[in-house]
Amino acid sequence: MSALQIVHHCHPALRWKSRDVGQIDAGLRSMVEQMFELMYAAKGVGLAANQVALPWRLFVINPSGDPQLKDEQIVFINPRITRRNGSEESEEGCLSLPEIYGPVPRATRIVVDAFDLEGEQFEMELEDWNARIVQHEYDHLEGVLFTDRVSPPVLRELQPLIDELESRFRQRQTLGEIPPDAELRTALRALEKAVETPQAGPRTA
Ligand code: ZN
Repeated sequence: MSALQIVHHCHPALRWKSRDVGQIDAGLRSMVEQMFELMYAAKGVGLAANQVALPWRLFVINPSGDPQLKDEQIVFINPRITRRNGSEESEEGCLSLPEIYGPVPRATRIVVDAFDLEGEQFEMELEDWNARIVQHEYDHLEGVLFTDRVSPPVLRELQPLIDELESRFRQRQTLGEIPPDAELRTALRALEKAVETPQAGPRTA
């Protein structure tokens, strides 16, 4: 696989409903490794696969954002949020919407189940900041951006910045630096076909 890159709004991958990972193999592990590197380089705390134009249900987080703290790295494969409690609003940003920030309401406590890189299923309870990161990344897998969840007045405020990001993306397409949407969608559909739909959980290889 060629080098991955973080894609920006309005790349169609960001609006893609991602598909379950069917097999955890060397290719997937190296992809995860690259996702962590890109996340740290961009000073982020979480990154979803569709932010690197891969339509698979998987994201990585490190709530500390510190590449030295490997213990804080968590990989979530085929995650499901099974419980949400409480609500709190706090500022969020997104590596796919650079320089845009806004307050987003999120559950304060969640329970997630997912598979790890060894193909083992796990359940995790998260609170506050960690729960916020996971809900933000989980949204990505559903094709949802944090700007979809801000209040109407905040969205009105952010809209010019979002529009500017979009026109920059379209300009790069016009210049031929980024392929046209139809081509990007064809690539996403081909990547979807590259993974088998899992029966019970992802197989490891
Ligand atoms: Zn994001």
